[in-house]
Amino acid sequence: MITPSSAVPGRIAAPCAPRADDHLVLHPLGIDQVEITGGFWGDWQDRNRAVTTPHALKWLERDGAMDNLRRLGDAGGEPERRGMLFSDSDLYKALEGIAWDIGRKPSPELAAVIADATRLLEQAQEEDGYLNSWVQAGRAERFADLAHGHEMYCAGHLIQAAVALARTTGEDELLALARRLADNLVREFGDRRRVDVDGHPEIETALVELYRYTGDRSYLDLAQQFVDVRGHGVIGPGDFGSAYFQDDVPVREQPTVVGHSVRALYLMAGVVDLFLETGERALLEAGERQWGSMVAEKTYLTGAVGSRFEGEAFGDPFELPPDLIYGETCAGIASVMASWRLLLATGQGKYADLIERTLHNLFAASTSTAGDGFFYVNPVQRRRPRDAAPVDGKPLRSDAPGTRPAWFDCACCPPNIMRTVASLGGYLATADDTGVQLHLYAPAEIDVLLGDGQVRATVQTDYPLDGTVTVRVEQSPSQPWTLSLRIPAWCRGASVEVDGEQLPATADDDGYVRIERAWASGDVVRLVLPMPVRLTVAHPAVDAVRGTVAIERGPLTYCLESVDQSTGVDLDAVELAADTQLRVVTRPDLLGGTLAIEADAVVRDDSGWDGSGWASLGEEPATSTRPVTLTAIPYYLWANRGPSAMRVWIPLGDRRG
Ligand SMILES: [Zn+2]
Repeated sequence: MITPSSAVPGRIAAPCAPRADDHLVLHPLGIDQVEITGGFWGDWQDRNRAVTTPHALKWLERDGAMDNLRRLGDAGGEPERRGMLFSDSDLYKALEGIAWDIGRKPSPELAAVIADATRLLEQAQEEDGYLNSWVQAGRAERFADLAHGHEMYCAGHLIQAAVALARTTGEDELLALARRLADNLVREFGDRRRVDVDGHPEIETALVELYRYTGDRSYLDLAQQFVDVRGHGVIGPGDFGSAYFQDDVPVREQPTVVGHSVRALYLMAGVVDLFLETGERALLEAGERQWGSMVAEKTYLTGAVGSRFEGEAFGDPFELPPDLIYGETCAGIASVMASWRLLLATGQGKYADLIERTLHNLFAASTSTAGDGFFYVNPVQRRRPRDAAPVDGKPLRSDAPGTRPAWFDCACCPPNIMRTVASLGGYLATADDTGVQLHLYAPAEIDVLLGDGQVRATVQTDYPLDGTVTVRVEQSPSQPWTLSLRIPAWCRGASVEVDGEQLPATADDDGYVRIERAWASGDVVRLVLPMPVRLTVAHPAVDAVRGTVAIERGPLTYCLESVDQSTGVDLDAVELAADTQLRVVTRPDLLGGTLAIEADAVVRDDSGWDGSGWASLGEEPATSTRPVTLTAIPYYLWANRGPSAMRVWIPLGDRRG
């Protein structure tokens, strides 16, 4: 029997902390129970605090997000409101990031940032709890344009920030403010006084979390109402039609993910949250069904989702072009959020597999190695180098410059990255009444009350570059318990030993190796996940990449970046030799030190095609080739050395050259 360290369910310092525990297969652990102590994610958490957070605060000030709220109170501020209508949410997500970060490691400076922002918000908030700088600036009427107004979307992010702060620090001033806003929504919409809902889901998961922390049932009821009314055309067609808002089909009947990808996945997260509290199976089944369809037909190898620029939307099944991909960073984050809730609800490792794939590829690529540049759109092929993003400025278009811009007019992604990185400790491990489960591998310290005693364990690993994971039990209760280790779906030939004794390492149907025993302090578990280089093919219906392969190693997708290739190698003209040899090369000189992969390949001379884009079959111009060695780097590291061409999917050629 698990007793979480925080006495009250719903108050565990985790990004999703259910209050009811009878619908949970796995119990989340808080960031005070699982601390990342270094490695890939630990370094990033440090960079998130030292670089990204001050960088974001500078831009929130510079772009008006702070002033938009400041001008509503008596603290001054500029006369004109600036920026996007949902700019309040940029601040709220940054505050949530800081809340997780100070929960991880206290900081008087960052606590002061939150205190200052809370004062500013208190001054801006109206008597009845309403708070939205766009509407309060007179730019729109309250709740008059739910399709586009983002009022509840912004409210949701404020609620999430406040709940995160309360869970990590116990600080409840921001929570009180967020509750006043939530109560305003309850008065306006609750008990079906209105039967419409915000065009951008987010409020659903936020209200469930607020219910979890406070126990106030009205928030859960309103979340339920918002999920129930959606799907009946209540929002109107807007600019892109009802499907864009997930308002064309009720969620319980929807077979797949449609429309705006961030909206679809925030909604999925909220729907699974609702299941976790109410136990309504149809909600879980909707989430499982839509997730399954998404992974089978609408997800890129990097974990990116949402292929269409138009409507930032999911495309048709297998519509996954590598060069025209949208793949918004926020959609990847939303995918992680939804997958995590499904993992808690089912215990199935496939959800952790997608989380791992998304975090180490799409998500890791979203941010520059320096921590102050961000991709909004995440291509897996760039045919020609594009202009670099302006130094210390925003691109004219937020969608696709050659390097990571410092900020965006539509700045949803950078603070979303902040809050995700800062809360990652909450995604590593879970507990149930049999023991502890490890889902993601990173250096960490785990400390959880299990039965009659404390389990303390340390995890050491150089993941994702090395597949050896060492778990050392530092303290254990007297009764036996089970340590479960996820065997990733990509892994073949895993081995596991305890104190030098080899054990069977076959994963069960859920994807985990289970080791049950009476553990003692000093026991050492050594899991080895072999990471040979492998070539991956896409489903044959993904026409855009048929005949190509991708290079992968462990959880990492690799890419060819033009700056790593020999002079004159055009990435549009390369083909891997059919019998290519793939060599892992340690490159301490490259991008702060990484493992590159060299591949035997050829470069085609396509000049016979000059002036023609097609030819009759059998009459194609002769094409000569010359051999070349290509160098691939982990995908997440691309575009850190100026504008470049890049590709993930590489044609697999004949034996020639
Ligand atoms: Zn975004």
